[in-house]
Amino acid sequence: MRFSFLNLAKQALSAHRHWPEQWRFPEPKAEYDAIIIGAGGHGLGTAYYLAKEHGLRNIAVLEKGWLGGGNTGRNTTIIRSNYLWEESQGLYEHSVKLWENLSAELNYNVMYSPRGVMMLAHTVHDIQVFKRHVHANRLQGIDNEWLTPEEAKEFCPILNISPNMRYPILGAALQRRGGTARHDAVAWGYARAASAMGVDIIQNCEVKGIRRDPSGAVTGVETTKGFIGTKKIGVVAAGHTSVIMSMADVRMPLESYPLQALVSEPIKPIMPCVVMSNTIHAYMSQSDKGELVIGAGTDAYTSYSQTGGLHITTHTLDAICELFPNVRRLRMLRNWGGIVDVTPDRSPILSKTPVKGLYVNCGWGTGGFKATPGSANVFAHTIAKDEPHPINAAFTIDRFKTGRLIDEAAAAAVAH
Ligand SMILES: Cc1cc2nc3c(=O)[nH]c(=O)nc-3n(C[C@H](O)[C@H](O)[C@H](O)COP(=O)(O)OP(=O)(O)OC[C@H]3O[C@@H](n4cnc5c(N)ncnc54)[C@H](O)[C@@H]3O)c2cc1C
Repeated sequence: MRFSFLNLAKQALSAHRHWPEQWRFPEPKAEYDAIIIGAGGHGLGTAYYLAKEHGLRNIAVLEKGWLGGGNTGRNTTIIRSNYLWEESQGLYEHSVKLWENLSAELNYNVMYSPRGVMMLAHTVHDIQVFKRHVHANRLQGIDNEWLTPEEAKEFCPILNISPNMRYPILGAALQRRGGTARHDAVAWGYARAASAMGVDIIQNCEVKGIRRDPSGAVTGVETTKGFIGTKKIGVVAAGHTSVIMSMADVRMPLESYPLQALVSEPIKPIMPCVVMSNTIHAYMSQSDKGELVIGAGTDAYTSYSQTGGLHITTHTLDAICELFPNVRRLRMLRNWGGIVDVTPDRSPILSKTPVKGLYVNCGWGTGGFKATPGSANVFAHTIAKDEPHPINAAFTIDRFKTGRLIDEAAAAAVAH
């Protein structure tokens, strides 16, 4: 769909037309075939695919707060699949393909908008790295192309390509199929579709403990609404995964950090795509309401606080004003933070665990929104079949013992 105010208004109206008047908000049953901990996009999507593709209907999603109140409703919605390593390309491309049909599949407008994601190069090193990505992606049939600074400006006219900038733009890698979606719509769309198939979605239900039998296999969860029995538990609780996994004595290779974002006051459309700069660390797009959506970085220190240091956002705004000087006088409308959990190689874990009946989906760091449909789809397979899907087979916890890492951290330095 083309970028115009009329289309934005149409999209917004159609997203709200399906508001869930027929929803059930049940109390938990005594026992389920499977329990998902965490009602973000990944958890709700997992429940949806368990019900739809694997016929498991006696399942529940337990959420300590409200639907999509975690990172799913806090992110800057960048979607792309231009990762370096084949394992990541397989996972994120699977996701992009599901995004393309998700609104129709869920009968809920998730406002997926493939408006293009452009990643700026400011140094010779950036040029080499991004060109390597372009070639690696194209070998796998994934679109990615190299642009000169002039071509980059043509794609995003408000971009400053002056050679006198502190970090001049030397070129850019563009994935045209990359883009954005509406984050809370993804949670609500999956929730409504899963609920319609009989999945119980239980909010205000915090998991406090995991019970196991003498053989070590899981038998259920202790929650603020009492004990609930099950033989399969999928943990999908970004930022809090280590806390929950420690209830089953599993130590995770994860650190949790605050990550922030902010939006400007709404203005007419000026930004036709997503622009990211890893080097000076800033990225921006424009939401369907007209706000400029700006992503900041993670704090330098681990924390479970959903805020983050002010200096992180001011640093980002400095970079934004340099890249887009004509937004300098805009006021910021609001800012917020989420808690992301990060693995040593900055790739996710989608895996069985050493505990029978316990599965984990975590470690998406700053970039798991884009993966929501693909991750949920293969995680449902892993739980239903008790073995990984070929797409997530490499994303095990074991890789931190064997050393067979999927090192997107070194490849990209940033992973939104
Ligand atoms: C500021 C910011 C910007 C981002 N930008 C991007 C981006 O542009 N592109 C991108 O791809 N990704 C981005 N991300 C990352 C992305 O948001 C996450 O990777 C993704 O949303 C994770 O989804 P989830 O469903 O796993 O987690 P969440 O949506 O966080 O869901 C987990 C849920 O688990 C619940 N929970 C936790 N503990 C318990 C418990 N004990 N019992 C019951 N429930 C519990 C939480 O309340 C939460 O609702 C960003 C993140 C942030 C914070």
